[in-house]
Amino acid sequence: MKESPSKKAEILAVAGGTLLSWYDANKRDLPWRGSNDPYAIWVSEILLQQTTVAAVLDRYPKFLERFPNIETLAAASEEEVLAELQGLGYYRRFRAMRRAALEIVEGGGGKLPEDVAAWKALPGIGDYTAGAIVSIAFNQAHAAVDGNVVRVLTRLLALPGIHESLAAKRKLGEEVLTMMPAGCASRFNQALFDLGATVCVPKDPRCETCPIRSSCLARTKNEVHLYPERPIKKAMVDVKVAVALIEENGSFLMTRRAAKESRMPGFRELPEIWVMDENEPRDQLHRLLAERFNGRVAIGDELAEARHTITHHRLFCTLYSCQLAVSSQPGGEWVNPANLDEVPTSTITKKLLRRLASEL
Ligand code: SF4
Repeated sequence: MKESPSKKAEILAVAGGTLLSWYDANKRDLPWRGSNDPYAIWVSEILLQQTTVAAVLDRYPKFLERFPNIETLAAASEEEVLAELQGLGYYRRFRAMRRAALEIVEGGGGKLPEDVAAWKALPGIGDYTAGAIVSIAFNQAHAAVDGNVVRVLTRLLALPGIHESLAAKRKLGEEVLTMMPAGCASRFNQALFDLGATVCVPKDPRCETCPIRSSCLARTKNEVHLYPERPIKKAMVDVKVAVALIEENGSFLMTRRAAKESRMPGFRELPEIWVMDENEPRDQLHRLLAERFNGRVAIGDELAEARHTITHHRLFCTLYSCQLAVSSQPGGEWVNPANLDEVPTSTITKKLLRRLASEL
């Protein structure tokens, strides 16, 4: 049975007040907490996109040490920014952050905006990030609906339907604003994040210790497992990836991914080929190297193996020792492995080289 609007508003108001008190006593101790510097908050939100808190904990203070303010970030090259953040994945967000820093410094004299619409006009900033920045930094009453908030709200109100579209999240944002006690946007949005991350977790939520359990409709109806509804996932596809290690004077031949590539544009990688059919990876790698480097090629031993997952692709990567007849390679660049941390390098390449080093 659908709740009446007044009943729903009552549930939201009661849960909102309780949640805020719970947050004051239970908030997570995170390095980006306690600051209302919009630059530091913006950086934390970008680093946390599609990335776990655990993965960001060490990288965030290091990033701020290297680029402590908008001016230093705007003055850095894209390569310097990507090298600092390599390993975190989804690199388009970091390129956009640097472009936004340039726009703020060149167009706005380095003053970070306070207005949610001005943030959304910058590269890489959507509803969620803009709402999070202005609510946390300036305590403005804006919602910031991420996966945690979707989970908490759909369970609290027993809301059916898939809430992944922008329109569905905006609708949930209205519920968040109904729930938010006046003048408490900064603490309240962070309270919702914390509840979703530590109590109302995806699997086996800790309802017995949840501060808003007496308001929660999904719990009352014993239907917590039904929310949030999920779209049907794409089936995983297994891919064999053959990767070439071509060495000369202690350096490896690498290529640079094209700027128009959707995945990791501009990153260096060892030459690789994905094989999704019955073809022999070794033969496909031979063909790739012969075409790309225009020379005689010999494929030798298997040196290392690694696994990696990219969206719905499960990659089984094998590194082969390879030789080329000529060392001048117009399509490639010789990179000393000691310098790999200074150049943005693909995760598959890094994993295989780490595995190789550990096996030597
Ligand atoms: S009672 Fe359970 S399902 Fe409801 S909000 Fe709390 S943890 Fe989530």
